[in-house]
Amino acid sequence: MAAFAALLAVVAAVLVRPYAKEPGPVIPPFLPVFATWVTLTEGLTALLLWTQYAVSGRLLFAALTGAYAFTSVTAAFQLLVFPGVFSPTGLLSAGPQTAVWIWVFWHGGFPAFVTASLLARAVSPSLGSRAKGRLTALAAVLLAVGFCTLATAGQSYLPTFVAKSGSYMQLSSSPAGLIVEAVCVAALGLHVSTTRLRSLMDLWLAVALVGALIDATLTLSAGARYSVGWYAARVASMASSSSMLGMLIYETTGLYRQLSDTHRKLVETSARDGLTGVFNRAYFDDRFARDYAFSEASEQPFCVLLIDVDHFKQYNDTFGHLAGDDCLRQVAGALSKTLRRQSDFVARYGGEEFVVVLPACEPAAGLRVAESLRAAVVGLGVQSASPSGGSVTVSIGIACTFPHSPESAPALLGLADAALYRAKARGRNLVVSAADIGNLDAGNHASARRSIGH
Ligand code: GH3
Ligand code: MG
Ligand code: MG
Repeated sequence: MAAFAALLAVVAAVLVRPYAKEPGPVIPPFLPVFATWVTLTEGLTALLLWTQYAVSGRLLFAALTGAYAFTSVTAAFQLLVFPGVFSPTGLLSAGPQTAVWIWVFWHGGFPAFVTASLLARAVSPSLGSRAKGRLTALAAVLLAVGFCTLATAGQSYLPTFVAKSGSYMQLSSSPAGLIVEAVCVAALGLHVSTTRLRSLMDLWLAVALVGALIDATLTLSAGARYSVGWYAARVASMASSSSMLGMLIYETTGLYRQLSDTHRKLVETSARDGLTGVFNRAYFDDRFARDYAFSEASEQPFCVLLIDVDHFKQYNDTFGHLAGDDCLRQVAGALSKTLRRQSDFVARYGGEEFVVVLPACEPAAGLRVAESLRAAVVGLGVQSASPSGGSVTVSIGIACTFPHSPESAPALLGLADAALYRAKARGRNLVVSAADIGNLDAGNHASARRSIGH
């Protein structure tokens, strides 16, 4: 797109060049529209570049902020002093030479500042001090004000370019005109050869410099205001000032999109356990408390399951920790695949322990889910290292808020833990309900017997 824009501008300029001196219609609103446009776009570009400087601390951005702030200020001055805009001779006690001298400072200053930014890159490629950046931008604005003051208050010291007829043909062959042209060419050449146009910003900065060069060339060859070349040069100037702004807005929008994507991914991964991919402990702690509070407020039953892999230390000792990790991944996968409802979730509680939360779940249904979880792990058929052989198993303790609710979420978890302890004590590969612990103590092993294989 940048190459196309530059090419289009060059082709248009070459086509217009032979007719540059042809007088065009005098359209009084054109100049105010043009100068306002440039003042605003260059000012906004300066602002966006300044925010990039504030974030990155790279002196390059401060220098480019200076280049664009300089242009914005001089364009604003030109609007004020241009004959026929606010008054027949222009404001700020402008003389007939003021506007054309402001043009000279503007069109020599911008490419000079862009070249200076190359220097800022070379001198201080990484972080510069904040004061240096502020000073650079401020110096550019002060220089703009200084040049404009010279063009207004000090106009009598400056050579005369504008003839009585309104023609500024003398400028084209004057050293000032030649310097502007030379600075534009040198800035473009140095910019392209130094940066090699590697970044998007460098590319569009080159387009802006092409625009500035076309603007200078056409203005100088036109020789009079409101001629074809003069109008074409102003259009080139507007295009040049908009190119960087467009690129910066495009890039900023892209950055927002990237940022929200990265943020979403970060939130997702921060809730996940790195090894097994199920939710992690921090996520569980947060959601468990909220789910419990909600079920209590809405008087719904609520179950929590603590699941511990049986003889897992032995598994590691026999097959190694890498195989142990793989086994944990498989167990976690089996657990999460077995859960059906959207509101249910499994998290890694720690080590080889998992926790399953079942909101709005009756104890009987909770026991059925626990049983299917236990069966799902057995169903994996991962060879166990336990003395009795067979496949890897888990023990599960389940606690529900129904019919009797403990006073808090941690208390409910404590009941599930006690039930898990009991399942281990009763021989493992078992589901034990906290509600049945009393019965078990009394010798009634109903809940333990519910499990297959025991
Ligand atoms: P029990 O049936 O009574 O639960 O016996 P156990 O061996 O499973 O219990 P214990 O708590 O003694 O051992 C748990 C083992 O889990 C110890 C530790 O090496 C292992 N472990 C914990 N986290 C990980 C992990 O992330 N990867 C692997 N490979 N092993 C882990
Ligand atoms: Mg354990
Ligand atoms: Mg264990």
